[in-house]
Amino acid sequence: MNQDTRPVAIVTGASRGIGAAIAQRLAEDGYHIVVNYASNEAEAQRVVATLHAVGHGAIAVRADVSKPDDVRALFDAAERELGRVDVLVNNAGVLKTMPLAETSDELFENTFGINVQGTFNTLREAARRLNDGGRIVNFSTTVLAMKLPGYAIYSASKAAVEAMGAIFAKELRGRRIRVNTVAPGPVATELFFSGKTQEQIAGFAKMPPLERLGEPGDIARIVSFLVSEESGWVNGQVLRANGGTA
Ligand code: NAP
Repeated sequence: MNQDTRPVAIVTGASRGIGAAIAQRLAEDGYHIVVNYASNEAEAQRVVATLHAVGHGAIAVRADVSKPDDVRALFDAAERELGRVDVLVNNAGVLKTMPLAETSDELFENTFGINVQGTFNTLREAARRLNDGGRIVNFSTTVLAMKLPGYAIYSASKAAVEAMGAIFAKELRGRRIRVNTVAPGPVATELFFSGKTQEQIAGFAKMPPLERLGEPGDIARIVSFLVSEESGWVNGQVLRANGGTA
C-alpha cells in the first residue's frame, strides 16, 4: 500500500476524453489516481504512464461500472494499492442518439446500465468506503436542459444522475462529504464526434456565445474546483459548463 499521505481519487472512464483530462488535473493537484476503464486497457495504461513519467502516483483498474461486483473490486484495488478513497468522479458514460421510437431495448438498457446503474453502483459503494470529508462529482449533460430531439434516452439517464446526486448529498449528512454534478455542453471527445457530420459539429460549435466546443481541460478544471476547499460550501448542485449555451 502507498505509504505517503496524498489523497486518493477514483476517476471512472479515465482512459480517454474528459476522464483522462480529469486524471491529469487531479494528479497535478496532488492526488493519487485510480484510472478506471471498461475495455481499453492500452489507453488507460498510456494515461498511467504519462502520470508516472512526471512523478505522479496512478494505477489503472478495469471495471465495468454497470456491474456491482466490478465496482466493489474497483474500490478494493484502490484501497489495496493506494489507500482509502477521498474523491470519486463518476465520469464514465455512453451516448448514442436515436429517436425514442427507434430505440431498441438493448440501447436503452446499455445507456441506463452504464450512466444510471453505473453511477448508482459507485455511489452506493462510496457511501460505505469514502473517507469522511470526501467529495463526489457526477456527470450529467447540458442537452438535458436543451431538450434536443434524438437525446431522449441519454437525457433521461442523466436526469436520473442529477436526481441521485442531489438526494445523496442530503443522505450523507454528518459525513462532511459533498456531492455535486457537472453538466457539460458539447466537448471535443470521441463521445461527441462519433456519428456526427462536419456540419453538425460546426453547428454545435456555434451554439455557445463563446463560439467553440468545450475542451476536456475546461471540464477538468471545474472538477478540480468542485473537489477543492475553494468550493467547500457548494453541495448538492448541478453546474452547467457550456460556454453559455443553456
Ligand atoms: P468518451 O471520450 O467516450 O470516454 C468515455 C470513457 O468512459 C472511456 O474512458 C470509457 O472507457 C469509459 N467507459 C465507457 N463505458 C464504461 C463502463 N461501463 N465502465 C467503465 N468505464 C466506461 O466520453 P467523454 O466525452 O469523455 O464523456 C465523459 C462524460 O462526460 C460522460 O459521462 C458523458 O456523458 C459526459 N458528457 C460528455 C459530453 C461531450 O460532449 N463529450 C457532454 C456532456 C456530458 P473504455 O474505452 O475503456 O470503455
